[in-house]
Amino acid sequence: MNTANSVTVLLELEPSTEVIGSQEIDIGARVRWVHAAHQGAARTLCGLDPRGLEPERYRPSSPDQPWCPPAHHTRRCPACDTLLGETG
Ligand SMILES: [Zn+2]
Repeated sequence: MNTANSVTVLLELEPSTEVIGSQEIDIGARVRWVHAAHQGAARTLCGLDPRGLEPERYRPSSPDQPWCPPAHHTRRCPACDTLLGETG
């Protein structure tokens, strides 16, 4: 019940930004995976060190909102998504 609205969203970015085309202006193209960590936790749900990740300001506004920002919906980390889904 209290999991979805108490997580920090963290973006794992591509190590190098490779511009494929001039139309590629979507920041989402640079995101490799979107991870989730419980607030104050030393690791993401899938065990990554959050210091290597980019904090995302997005927060679910209510527990029935998706934990992942809609803009990065397809980039949800499968492990984090599964863990959040199982506990939610
Ligand atoms: Zn993850």
